[in-house]
Amino acid sequence: MFSLSQDRRLVVFDLEWNQSSYTPNHRMPHEIIEIGACRVDEDYNVVDTFSQVICPRLYKKLDKHIRQVTGITEDELRGGRSFADVFADFMRWCGEDVQLVTWGRDDYPVLKRNAAFFMTPMPFEPPVDAQMVFGAACLGGAHQQMNLHAALEHMHIEVDVPAHRAVYDAQCTAAMLPAIDEAVRAMDENKRAELDRTIDREKRIANSALRSQPTKYVYQSEAIADEKLMNIACPRCGQRTRFDTPWFDSGREKYLAIAQCPQHGMIYGTMHFKRVQSGTLVMHQRAYAANTDEVESTREKYRLYLLTPPKKRHHRLSMKQDG
Ligand SMILES: [Zn+2]
Repeated sequence: MFSLSQDRRLVVFDLEWNQSSYTPNHRMPHEIIEIGACRVDEDYNVVDTFSQVICPRLYKKLDKHIRQVTGITEDELRGGRSFADVFADFMRWCGEDVQLVTWGRDDYPVLKRNAAFFMTPMPFEPPVDAQMVFGAACLGGAHQQMNLHAALEHMHIEVDVPAHRAVYDAQCTAAMLPAIDEAVRAMDENKRAELDRTIDREKRIANSALRSQPTKYVYQSEAIADEKLMNIACPRCGQRTRFDTPWFDSGREKYLAIAQCPQHGMIYGTMHFKRVQSGTLVMHQRAYAANTDEVESTREKYRLYLLTPPKKRHHRLSMKQDG
């Protein structure tokens, strides 16, 4: 059963990243500009901190909103070091056998993508999402997402930190841990088992293979017909898989599929398209290890999809404008 205070040492981390809404690079839509972290002891006291600024390679102009929220300047970024150097420092600072903790589920996929883009090793397993655990233990459901500062207020916890920077947010998350730990211990058995299932699913999602690919297509129906584009690679071995249930529109143009890797079993795929300025579609695909429930419910959704008259389906595929 899940418990925060396991044998592993806890490192709480937080990232700041930059982006470009005009010329995004689909291999790395969010570029990390700061890594902040703190290490806590078994009583969740902060015993060490890590804070380093990264000089961006892709997006050198700081997004206005990010500048306002963090107070980071472009001058400061230019003084930073490369992602590869800072991340190597971070790994050394963490040491071996640590359990990472974050607030929210966004940081880990961004970290993975940045590591892949800069071709640096990525030794970390998915973190514990303190926001999700807090929701499950203190707010009555894992889907309850409260932002960090609202959560601190909710629990009447005061942390004296100057600004919204990565290392301070990591310290604020650390300040939440004693209350979260206590609340998890107080959960009844059913709720705790449900939390375990959510954690299992989130871990599988965090280990997803993500693929974003610009296409030459204007209509989703054309993209769906492109076999090569529709292929799902196994998130564990990267090998080609075969479809158990082919891609279908599960409603609102969110596509689902089930594929099978001969070595690693069933894989759950989700996909959507976004239209770029040129009018063509970019495909966004996610694939992760599926459990039996997901396989069965997706097969059932597909069965219902096949009962929808094809004319209506075609209409939904080709006529709707993307948002
Ligand atoms: Zn595989």
